[in-house]
Amino acid sequence: MHWQILIALIAGTLFAVYLPDQTVWISWMGDLFLKLLKMVIIPLIVSSIITGIAGIGTPESLGRLGLKTIGFYFFTSFLAIILGLTLVNLIKPGVGADLSFAETMETLPAADQSLGQLLIGSVPENIFKSLAEGNMLPIIFFSMLFGYFANLTSNAHQQVIHRFFNSVFEVMMKITMAVIKLTPLGVFAIIATVISKYSGDANSLTQIFSRMGLYMLTVLLALFIHAFFTLHLVIWIINRINPLRHFKNMSIPLLTAFSTSSSSATLPLTMEAVEHKDGVSPRISSFTLPLGATINMNGTALYECIAAIFIAQAYGIDLTIGQQFIVVITALLAAVGSAGIPMAGLVMMAIVLKAVGLPLEGIGLVLAVDRILDMFRTAVNVYGDTCAAAVIAKSEGEKLNV
Ligand code: ASP
Repeated sequence: MHWQILIALIAGTLFAVYLPDQTVWISWMGDLFLKLLKMVIIPLIVSSIITGIAGIGTPESLGRLGLKTIGFYFFTSFLAIILGLTLVNLIKPGVGADLSFAETMETLPAADQSLGQLLIGSVPENIFKSLAEGNMLPIIFFSMLFGYFANLTSNAHQQVIHRFFNSVFEVMMKITMAVIKLTPLGVFAIIATVISKYSGDANSLTQIFSRMGLYMLTVLLALFIHAFFTLHLVIWIINRINPLRHFKNMSIPLLTAFSTSSSSATLPLTMEAVEHKDGVSPRISSFTLPLGATINMNGTALYECIAAIFIAQAYGIDLTIGQQFIVVITALLAAVGSAGIPMAGLVMMAIVLKAVGLPLEGIGLVLAVDRILDMFRTAVNVYGDTCAAAVIAKSEGEKLNV
């Protein structure tokens, strides 16, 4: 299957380059694939979290799992940001950058979210509203609460709840596996549609690369080092997980994340691969992955940091060490707050820029290449989640295939 997806990626690119005007005929396949994935997400995560939490048992083991997961997420996001900070200060892609290249945006993104707002926002006012709107954090919060309190009911009730949600989960997994079969077609259409938007005008493409090349290179280099060096080293050191085998097992979700630029849409495939290829139990994967797809974004975290400092360099603004520290903290917050959808990270950049008083128009500077970088950072975001699931499963004594 991963070969089929790779071929689809190449075929989609060629289609976009040679027949950019014809993509209207195939874009429906991409839309359909994304719709099917989104259709699966909510029943899948609700049933998996409720069964998972109900299976975890005591409050102590739940607390331990929660601490490990959140700890791993913050630790790796922080490593990612520090790497981004180091590279952007070494390579200095923004020094002497051409400001006329900034695209003017009709409406500037208004993202302005404090940690407090984010926390309050994760408590649903009306769970059905959250379900209908697909707001992940409130859905996760409610499902965890439901699973936890289900454990406190009488044995008879516990069994009914567990059996019911477990059955729903099994059905949703079967649907997911059927949807996976369509991945090559979906990837082909999505890639062709995205790339045709750029390739229509070869001139502007060369311009983009010549002016933004160094910035893109900095982001891509950081993403590459984080995924292949930092994360691999971390999972090997903490729990002796074979990085290459784990990477190979994750090929389908990674290629899908790359093509769709959405951690959320990829979630069903991530869960399938982590459970069936790595051998992580649904108990761990249902706890770590939905949460990870929403708050753990290693790729976005380092991208926020590099982009903000790139903008400062381009505007000739020298950031003090204190200001760079604020960039690190707000980049982490922006990554946590970004939804797992295309270009969410770009909108959240407003938080970082505002915190250190950089011009918001700077977002226009990085806009042109954001969609391309989004593909790579989303793959790294998803990869970070899968590494967490494997490490935590192993630390809980599970036997994995990696
Ligand atoms: N597209 C990313 C994701 O879904 C978020 C971002 O824009 O950085 O993980």
